[in-house]
Amino acid sequence: MKATVKLNERVTLMIEEQKEMETLHKAIILANYPKVCSKCNGGAVILDSNKDKEANVYVNVVCLKCGAKAKLGQYKAGGYFWHRDFEIYNKNQSAQADEVPPEFDENGQEV
Ligand SMILES: [Zn+2]
Repeated sequence: MKATVKLNERVTLMIEEQKEMETLHKAIILANYPKVCSKCNGGAVILDSNKDKEANVYVNVVCLKCGAKAKLGQYKAGGYFWHRDFEIYNKNQSAQADEVPPEFDENGQEV
């Protein structure tokens, strides 16, 4: 089963899975990304993605008002879920490595 999911004006995904439920799962989860920041109940959010030194890829929704992020999580068994709570990542706060996607400036230097 195939599904086309339009996330925004620029990103349209084609999802194809053997099982219909898998296609439905991915299409529905990805399309229903959090659209209101739970930190500030603020305005627009954008989809964002980054990658760390170990080539782990992170997909986030970022609040344009306060900068808080909600991450796309992945189930070990396959499939996705959105963290519904937006979190503000403070560069100086220590946290588990997998909880803090590093940020890079335009020159590729970690900031
Ligand atoms: Zn916010």
